[in-house]
Formats: sequence, C-alpha cells, structure tokens
Amino acid sequence: MFREIRDRYAPSPTGLQHIGGIRTALFNYLFARSRGGKFILRLEDTDRTRSDPAFVQNLYDTFSWLGISWDEGPDAGGDYGPYVQSERFAIYRRYVRELVEADRAYYCFCSAERLDAVRAEREAAHSSETGYDRYCRNIPPEEAARRAAAGEPHTVRLKIPLEEHGSPAPITRFRDRLLGDIEWKNSDINPDPVLLKSDGFPTYHLANVVDDHLMGISHVLRAQEWIPSTPIHVILYRGFGWEHPEYCHLPMVMGQDGKKLSKRHGATSIDEFRSQGYLPEALINYVALLGCSYDDGEVPEGTPDSREKTGIYSLGALAERFSLDKLNKAPAIFDYKKLEWYNGQYIRMKGDGELAVLALPYAVKSGLFGSPGMEPDSRQQGIFSAAMPLIRERVTLLREIPEKLDYLFAEPPVPAAEAFIPKKSDLSTAIRLLRLCRDISGSLAALDDEGAETLIRGTAEKAGVKPGDLMMPLRVAITGARISPPLFGSLRILGAGCSRLRVDRALASLETATGSP
Ligand code: GLU
Repeated sequence: MFREIRDRYAPSPTGLQHIGGIRTALFNYLFARSRGGKFILRLEDTDRTRSDPAFVQNLYDTFSWLGISWDEGPDAGGDYGPYVQSERFAIYRRYVRELVEADRAYYCFCSAERLDAVRAEREAAHSSETGYDRYCRNIPPEEAARRAAAGEPHTVRLKIPLEEHGSPAPITRFRDRLLGDIEWKNSDINPDPVLLKSDGFPTYHLANVVDDHLMGISHVLRAQEWIPSTPIHVILYRGFGWEHPEYCHLPMVMGQDGKKLSKRHGATSIDEFRSQGYLPEALINYVALLGCSYDDGEVPEGTPDSREKTGIYSLGALAERFSLDKLNKAPAIFDYKKLEWYNGQYIRMKGDGELAVLALPYAVKSGLFGSPGMEPDSRQQGIFSAAMPLIRERVTLLREIPEKLDYLFAEPPVPAAEAFIPKKSDLSTAIRLLRLCRDISGSLAALDDEGAETLIRGTAEKAGVKPGDLMMPLRVAITGARISPPLFGSLRILGAGCSRLRVDRALASLETATGSP
C-alpha cells in the first residue's frame, strides 16, 4: 500500500543546536524533499527540568539561518498537532492506560528509596544486573489498579516480553534500512522501562512512539546512538497493535581521532560556526556529506583543492540527489579543514554587494569603523563594499575580513625601515624607489589593474629594477605590511590624495632613519 512519506526532526530543547542535530534534521529534510514527502518538526520537551525556551529559540534561529523549513511544526501548524509534547500529556495518559489494560504495561509502586537500595545492594554484591528488578511486574492487575486508583504514587512500566513456561527466550527483531536486520534478546533490553513517571509525565519512549504513530511518521532517520531504544519502541508498537515506521539509523559523526565529535575537537554548536563566519550554504553542503556519498561529485579524500570534482551542491541540488541508498555504514569523520574549504568556495561565489552585507556585522563587531559596535558612516560603507573584490579570494571565514581591511579605515603605523627594503637591496634604494612611486601614485590610483601594471613596468624598467621590487616599498607605505590585499585596488579605494600622503609619511620616516633630508 502506498504510504505518504513523512519524517521528522524531534529534538529535545535541552541544548544549543549542534552538528549532530542539524545532520539528522538535514537528512530528514532531504529525504522528505527527495520523495515528495513531508518533513515535520516536533519538540520533545518532556524533560521539564532540562528543557528551556531559550533552546527552542536557538532552534528556530538556527534553522531560519540555514534556510531549512518544515511542512508541519509548532510554528508552521498542521493537521497532526500540537507538535510540542508538553501540550500532549492527556494523549499519552490515554494511551498508556490502554497498554495497562492490555497487560502490556503495569503499575509500579516502587519508591525512589527502594530503587536506590536495590542498586546499592547490587553494587555491593558486584552483580552484573542493572536496571529495575521487576518487583511490581507480578502484582495482580486488579490489585494494582485498585492501589493506583486509591492514589498510591506509581509509575507505569513497559512489560518487556520474557521467557514463559519453557518457551524460547523472546527476541525482538527489526530491520534497519542501512544496517540490515538487527536483533536483541529481550533479556538484554532495559528491564521494563518507565513509560509514565509518577508526576504523570511521559518518558521519551512513550511520547516518541505515540507521536510518531499519531503523526503518521513513515520513516525514522536518527543517530545510531538511539539504536538501543529501538527494540523498546518496536515492543511498544506491537503492544499497541501498530505497525512501526521504517528505521534508518544514521552513521555516527566522529572527530579525526575516531572519537565521537565533541567540543574537544572544535566548534560543535551552530552558533559557534556562525560567529566564526561560516556561511549556511557551506555548512549545509558539508554536513550533507557526513555519511552520504553523492557519487557525481564528492571531493575526493585528501584533495580538498581538487577543482574537477568540487562537491558543491545547493540545498535544492542535494534534495534532488539524496537517497537512503547513498548512505554509508562507516562513521563519518568531521573534517574542519574541508568545511573551511567549502566556506571559502561559497565566499568566492558571492557578489560584492552580498558579501559586504554578510561581512558587515563582523566588521562592526571588530571595531573596524572606529570602536567595537560602531556602525559605518556612508563613506566607510562605500570603502567596505569596494574592498570586497580585494579579499574575496583571501579569506575562508567572514570573520577574517575586517582584520584584512584595517589599513583602509585607519592609517597603519609605519613599520621599521627594513620592511621597505626589497630582497637583496638596501635602504637608500628603497627610498629612491618610494620617491618614484610617489610621483606615479596619483596616476596609479586612477588606473585599472591593467593600466597600473603597465605604468609600474615602465617605471621599473626605467629605474632598472624589477616591477616587484618597485612595488614592495609602495605596498608597505600604503598597507603597512609586505603581504597585503592587492595593491592597485587598495590605491584606487584610498584615492590619489590619501595614497600620496601615506607615501610621504613613509618617506619622512625612512629619511629620519637614514638621517638624510
Ligand atoms: N528527542 C530525541 C532527541 O533528542 C529524538 C530521538 C528520535 O529521533 O527518536 O534526539
């Protein structure tokens, strides 16, 4: 029977959005898009002590920045709402009652103290047994129902099917789209996990299963760390008499040392990537490759510079190509260098105007226009936009842009005399060359690159020096450094007057250094 494809991202708002989370969301988004299905956002905020509205806001901000939207969700609405678990408690209570009545779940009256005592006892005896000892599992149902109705504090636990009267030990099997058949001996499954807590709140297992069913979820794509939960979920589905969704547990994301990606490896929260100046397109493109091979263009391992196979995909192009068949079983390695490379590529694809808009907040924050937080005036704004072609090829992160453009907004300090001296040359030559440059600086500032190049060549030839040697002292006078963004473009932006002043200032300093007039 044809079933509509519906998948979901179901985060618990207990932390900032991070690489693992957006990878799960992105894969669900791409899968739904690639199959004409629906992508749903559901907030799993059943852990009331750890859930925080600030993290919900962070979720919305992150995904709106990434440009990923859902078809149904708390903000988007939809026919299967509410999409926030804390607004669905009555539903879970109703369904858990059904399970108890069907003898698939039972009331547990054990106090926290008793559970602690069992744990302590086992520890003292070095017992390998963990989890609940199923003390309340065999209370006759009528008695349990009576005690619960009389108000005795209780939880509700799932009855994991166990061996009975010589029948073979039950096994729970399910098929994972990526990993194939998976089976768990029921005796190895968490013994009778809690479904409903004593305060009436559902646990993850109950709420997740009930919602996936009621929301018509056809596919669950989630991280492999959830595999131990899946047999519990399968047992729950069977208990309810429902068909479970198709499961696909996504490959783990590791750092380069083979350990699960964490703060130790570098930035993991999307906020951090954002403040470092990553572009959403680059993050999406790179994260889409974490555990998925797009055969027609992934950048070959170890050759991040390869231009033949660029691996550059827009969100739309990814959605067209995505398929569960392209997932890899092996863990994905998060390579910060590769992500940087993607970012550089996306920066190079931006037009001047767009790049200036994107880079502006970083420039304001860094104090490029006066002091940190200061907005540019219209003159500064003009300079900033005009400077984009100078640095586009020279940065991989937006954050690097302001520091590279300092010299256009404030006079750079004049460096020590040695900085002006071309290789194998001396100070008096540097001064002579700089004087020549002063005479042509006005013309250079008015010429395009080609014209400026011709003028420099002609002047260098007449002076009997290499063009590069002629440009060196000029570059240092104008930018304050031997290595800088392109000189001709800088001269044009600063203009004839300002360029000339900088050369004069440098000359005065050099002349003082030699003691000559
Ligand atoms: N709330 C779970 C999480 O935080 C959802 C796991 C699942 O997709 O089932 O990731």
